[in-house]
Amino acid sequence: MQERKLMELAEAAGTIAIVGHVRPDGDCVGSCLAVCNYITEQYPEKTVDVYLETPPVKFSYLKQFERICSDPETGKQYDLCICLDSGDRERLGKNVVYLDTAKTSICIDHHITNQGYGAANFVKADASATCELLYDFLDEEKISKEVAECIYTGILHDTNVFKNSNTTERTMQVAGAMMAKGINFSRIIDESFYKKTYVQNQIMGRAVLESVLFLDGKCIFSVVRKQDMDFYGVEASDLDGIVDQLRVTDGVEVAIFLHETENHVYKVSMRSNNLVNVSKVASYFGGGGHEKASGVTMTGTPQDILNNLAERIDEQLKG
Ligand code: 5GP
Ligand code: MN
Repeated sequence: MQERKLMELAEAAGTIAIVGHVRPDGDCVGSCLAVCNYITEQYPEKTVDVYLETPPVKFSYLKQFERICSDPETGKQYDLCICLDSGDRERLGKNVVYLDTAKTSICIDHHITNQGYGAANFVKADASATCELLYDFLDEEKISKEVAECIYTGILHDTNVFKNSNTTERTMQVAGAMMAKGINFSRIIDESFYKKTYVQNQIMGRAVLESVLFLDGKCIFSVVRKQDMDFYGVEASDLDGIVDQLRVTDGVEVAIFLHETENHVYKVSMRSNNLVNVSKVASYFGGGGHEKASGVTMTGTPQDILNNLAERIDEQLKG
């Protein structure tokens, strides 16, 4: 079975680096810590380090969260680099250095745009989450409650609580197997997904209030600028959920949400309901993701960016 490969490689390696994508989300943090916990539980003698950009504190209930290192310049080299939930090399950000200097590597991912950048690659675009896919690589009886919490968290976040169209029978089977490990799933859902700080609610309210419909009400758009983020004292991860709220507007096919990362540089998030493949739209501008959830970074004024995106979306709507 191909899935044996992960543990075979881990067994053969003395030192292991685990890396995931920039702006790590629940599936990224969950999959990286699931693998970290599983390997350290099975092989306590091995050196295992996890490298990610600073992860949102809402995931701090996951075991070994505090071990995540956000410094890409340690100069350390590893026998094996495990890349999780990142559709391409660039999405690893500065932590790509650990992939480039490792003796060998394995990439496990579920992005349709993934071309396979590891020495070994396991990409299944029909898996709801990297965490769902990961389950095939682990021995059921060796999955601890702590590893189950990581896997459940990843699936929960990439399916928006088991309701996005990427949720399958398999998704629920894996989530069910994690529940059987005795995890407090309702607490995990509330604490890591639904709970919002006061300012997170405020900025979401403002983004929704200022949103505009276009393309005959089939698209909705909103933007948060750097000055707004500074005013509310929020960072990018505080904007989670805004684009999903825009998507459920009646009649809307595509929701677009922009937030400014640098002067005139915007992170674009897109969500689609039925008619449009937003992964194609994002890929066209150098980004990627999934058919119904994608992202890209673009430069210009919000109006220019919107016009460029609208052209590609309209093509598909008329298609
Ligand atoms: P989000 O809008 O939540 O940031 O991202 C939605 C999906 O698109 C995620 O699966 C994410 O990995 C992917 N994605 C977001 N931004 C980018 C990007 O700049 N490049 C690529 N390749 N994928 C992205
Ligand atoms: Mn994912």
